[in-house]
Amino acid sequence: MLDAQIALVKDPSWAVHEQCSEAFSWKRVFQAVPNLLKVGKHTVKSPTLMSKQIKETARTYGADLVGICQVDHRWIYSHDRSGDPIEIPVEYKYAIVIGIAMDKEAISASPAFRSATASGVGYSRMAFTAACLAEFIRNLRYKAISMGNDTALSIPLAIDAGLGQLGRNGLLVTPQYGPCVRLCKIFTDLPLEPDKPIDFGLTKFCKECYKCAEVCKAQAISSDVEPSFKLACPSNNTGILRWAVNADKCYEFWVENGAACSSCVAVCPFTQ
Ligand code: SF4
Ligand code: SF4
Repeated sequence: MLDAQIALVKDPSWAVHEQCSEAFSWKRVFQAVPNLLKVGKHTVKSPTLMSKQIKETARTYGADLVGICQVDHRWIYSHDRSGDPIEIPVEYKYAIVIGIAMDKEAISASPAFRSATASGVGYSRMAFTAACLAEFIRNLRYKAISMGNDTALSIPLAIDAGLGQLGRNGLLVTPQYGPCVRLCKIFTDLPLEPDKPIDFGLTKFCKECYKCAEVCKAQAISSDVEPSFKLACPSNNTGILRWAVNADKCYEFWVENGAACSSCVAVCPFTQ
C-alpha cells in the first residue's frame, strides 16, 4: 500500500478520539432524557455488587479489561496542557481503569503505518467506551471524570487496579493481551470495591527476556538485568523501581519514522 493510501486509512482511525472532545469530560455530555430526571440518586447497598455491575456495563460498552482502585493522588498530573493546575476533589475516591485490546496482527506491522492505525482505533474505542460508562454513572446520579491519557498517569492506576504489571518496555503488560492494550479511566464518587494489584511473574520474566530492548531501533529500552531507580531521560519520574525507558529517544524515532512505533508491543511474548 502506498504511504498516501495508508494515511487515508490511519487518520480516520482517530476520528472518534479527535472529533469527540467531550468524550473525556468532567460533566454530562448528553442531555438527560426527561424520564430519567424524575429518578433520584441510585442507592448503592453493596459496593461489591455495584463493582460487578460497573464491570459488566463497561464490557458491554467495549472494554476488554476493567479494574477498580482507590485514586492515589501521586498519579495525578500537576497541570494540564494549557498550564492550568489540576485539582481532583476528594470525593472522587475511586478509579475505574479500562483496557482496550488492540489488533495484534496490525500492531505486528510496526514500525510500518498499519500499526499506527491499530493505535488510532484503540484511542477512538477508548473515547467511546469511557464516554458511555461515564454517562451511565451520571445517570445513577454520581459524578464521573472521564479520561484518556490526560489528567493522570494511566499505567500506575492500571497496576493498582490489578490489570497487569510494569514491563521492561515501560508499558503495562497484562496476562490476557500483554502490552497490546490502550488504557483509559474514570474517576468517580460511586461507592465501589477496589481490586488488588496482581503478580503473574512478569518482573522475573523480563529479567531474562530482552526482546523489546533488542527490537527497539531507538535504543530507548534498558538492557540492564535488574530494574533500578536509574533515570534514562529528563521525562522520567523519580523514585520508581523499574527499567526506565528513554522516552525522548523513543519520540524522536516516531518523528523520524513518520508514525507511532509499537515494535516493543509487537515483540513481547505476552502479546503473542
Ligand atoms: S515504541 Fe518503538 S521506539 Fe519507542 S521504545 Fe518501543 S520499540 Fe522503541
Ligand atoms: S518483551 Fe520481554 S522483556 Fe520486554 S516487556 Fe515483554 S516480557 Fe518483558
